[in-house]
Amino acid sequence: MVNISRLLSWSKHLRARRGSKIFRQTVRMFHYHMQPFQLLLTRIYEVLSEYEAGFTYPLVASTAKKHLRLVEMLKSYPYEIAIHGYKHVRYQHLTYQQQDRDIFKAIRTFKELKIPYNGFRAPYDNYTQDTIELVEKYKFKWDIGIGYRPEYRKNNTIFNAPLQNGKLSSYNCVPLNVWSDDSMIDRYKMSAKQIGKTLISQLKHAKSKQGVLMFDLHPIRLGQKQYVSCLIPFLEYAQKINAWLPTVSEAIEYWNKHQKWKHDAPVCCLLTGDIDNFTFWDYLRRF
Ligand SMILES: [Zn+2]
Repeated sequence: MVNISRLLSWSKHLRARRGSKIFRQTVRMFHYHMQPFQLLLTRIYEVLSEYEAGFTYPLVASTAKKHLRLVEMLKSYPYEIAIHGYKHVRYQHLTYQQQDRDIFKAIRTFKELKIPYNGFRAPYDNYTQDTIELVEKYKFKWDIGIGYRPEYRKNNTIFNAPLQNGKLSSYNCVPLNVWSDDSMIDRYKMSAKQIGKTLISQLKHAKSKQGVLMFDLHPIRLGQKQYVSCLIPFLEYAQKINAWLPTVSEAIEYWNKHQKWKHDAPVCCLLTGDIDNFTFWDYLRRF
């Protein structure tokens, strides 16, 4: 349960430290987390399963450790979990050694919790060249955050990241579409209907390129009652055009073998959603 005096002292601290923008975001998060995470995940599952769509959840390892029952729930789904750092911190502020330590601890935690993983997305999609090298060092099969860089995000093809030694990464990367739930909901205040339309228009574009399209739709927003219905018109449309919606590993594996999409689908769409926190207190611990 939420402890009010603790909340008030935190709010004072945040206002003093980071100003009103971060304070507004904290209030929003407080409201979103009024709904138990289990319920958010269930709502998303109910819609996805009706359309046999896949989903990939990048998960912060230190958060996973604190909520073992929710981790078991995630593991029970026919979806995929990826590593989203040990702590949700901006890697650009960390040295190579600090980033290495964070990724190492995340991997160790995933192994301890017996969470299978193939891929990585850095917190905040925030990479330095060191991060790109470390994804190679730790032998991830794919990365789904480098593709958010402006030079990649508008593309619709799977690519490999340039390494310091002049070679390309052995892991695959996927472009990450700019229309995330944060921008559509918190920034542009879109309704579920408008979000559905936006997702469809991006899918149409990717289809014209016979390419791949990936969204980051955080369950903390997507799973809210007023937003989850945005998936229905999108998935209806995807079904109509024979789009393929697998997990990231399924897509990458198939692409590497066949250089096309399963069932000759005209487009591959990857739904992903980071889990940074399971509760509001997880969110506050970031500061
Ligand atoms: Zn995140």
